[in-house]
Amino acid sequence: MSIPSPTIHIVGAGLAGSECALQLADMGFQVVLFEMRQAQVMTPAHKTQDFAELVCSNSFGSQTDYSAPGQLKWEAEQLGSFILKAARDHSVPAGMALAVDRERFSARITEAVKNHPRIELRSEVVQSLEDLPRPAVIATGPLTHDSLAESMRRHFDQEFLYFFDAIAPIVDADSINPQVAWKANRYNRSSEAEAVESESGDATPAPDSELNSSGDYWNCPLDKEQYYRLVEEIKGARKIEPKEFETTPYFQGCMPIEAIVDRGDETLRFGPLSPKGLSNPHTGHKAYAVVQLRQDNKEGTAYNMVGFQTRMAYGEQTRVFRLIPGLEQAEFLKLGSIHRNLYIHSPKKLTPTLSSRKDEWLFFAGQITGVEGYFESTCTGLLVAHFLAQKLRGQEVSLPPRASALGSLLNAITEDNELFQPTNINFGLFPKPPGFEKIRGHKQKEAKKAAQLELAKQSLLDFSQRIPVSL
Ligand SMILES: Cc1cc2nc3c(=O)[nH]c(=O)nc-3n(C[C@H](O)[C@H](O)[C@H](O)COP(=O)(O)OP(=O)(O)OC[C@H]3O[C@@H](n4cnc5c(N)ncnc54)[C@H](O)[C@@H]3O)c2cc1C
Repeated sequence: MSIPSPTIHIVGAGLAGSECALQLADMGFQVVLFEMRQAQVMTPAHKTQDFAELVCSNSFGSQTDYSAPGQLKWEAEQLGSFILKAARDHSVPAGMALAVDRERFSARITEAVKNHPRIELRSEVVQSLEDLPRPAVIATGPLTHDSLAESMRRHFDQEFLYFFDAIAPIVDADSINPQVAWKANRYNRSSEAEAVESESGDATPAPDSELNSSGDYWNCPLDKEQYYRLVEEIKGARKIEPKEFETTPYFQGCMPIEAIVDRGDETLRFGPLSPKGLSNPHTGHKAYAVVQLRQDNKEGTAYNMVGFQTRMAYGEQTRVFRLIPGLEQAEFLKLGSIHRNLYIHSPKKLTPTLSSRKDEWLFFAGQITGVEGYFESTCTGLLVAHFLAQKLRGQEVSLPPRASALGSLLNAITEDNELFQPTNINFGLFPKPPGFEKIRGHKQKEAKKAAQLELAKQSLLDFSQRIPVSL
């Protein structure tokens, strides 16, 4: 296909769209930026007409140099992120977090976009992908206007576009206690980890050497008392009330755990916490109920709690889920939530440079690509600007290195994954550094994170020297 006119059409002046537009305009490209709120067409969450409006919290998350979100910020800084610079210029005291005066921050971005000589602003709703000239970037966020969402549904096929997020908590694999939990698949009779049942029906514990050696799931056993305690705690936990625009009925397959519990104390035990087909090799007996955790990434560093999508408040989730035997010391890479969120099954529908597999000049950025969070959304806008600029210049498009935070985030949303779910940046997405394949204990975990950060920094520095930076 020939290279189209270098005027780039970006839809949505949110965090991703504004970052992308400012980057490309600064690199010398002409940009047309569409924003419907400038024409008084609001989303259910935005309150102003300003660009890069923060719809809820005023925090971009941690900026410490020993955290995954901090590393992402460091990398975005190397690539000249406008949003990050504006956030720092308008920051307010918030401990380790980067929080901003939201009005001043958005005003600054609005002014920069409106005053840029190479950005033409169009105050209108983009109704369909078909009418939009290419190259185009769709950065319309989780609350994309209905008509454009409908057009995306036609472009991608209904089954690969999601309108709601039902997220179960994700646990750091190294924090699951193997002395209590065990690895096995249901009814996996050939599994060496399964207890051997004697003819009388009694079971003998498997030898230590056979524990946790096979099976895809981590299984956490609960006795009757523990099960009922968990049910009561889930019932009593503080929940986040859905917003008015989020009251669509749940899909059966992603009911919040509290809605299942509301149907009866035993319902969970006949659903996701069924003990059927699972014998505990530590004791040789069947548990009253079993919480299963399913592998969440290729590296096997993260496991999601099957069936635990929830509206419980974050603090409550940590407290209640650590009551589960085997998860007493669980480190949660991500907590559960349920909210309206339009996003694409990116691993199936987008290329590694975030363009549609059906249309090489149609790019996507922001939360709709399956990242989660203000700063993660911003970073995809930053990356798409670089990908598009390289492609328009006829250069080979270079991806951020896999070891970097940017590369890890991109990999998480584009690598083949049937169980794809939106994600924020966390250490579970980084590759395991050599020498840390099997680790235990707090000290080793901290050493692993330090090694991951070191690799991330080094690889990103090499990468940033090879691509043009706009600031
Ligand atoms: C209610 C809610 C609360 C959230 N709270 C947080 C939080 O506290 N912290 C956090 O880190 N993340 C939060 N998120 C998640 C996410 O980080 C934000 O939604 C973030 O703003 C996403 O950035 P974005 O650039 O992808 O989309 P947005 O910032 O939403 O920008 C999209 C822009 O596109 C415009 N638009 C949409 N459709 C069209 C169209 N057809 N034509 C023209 N313009 C269009 C919109 O008006 C908007 O300006 C929240 C999400 C929601 C929905």
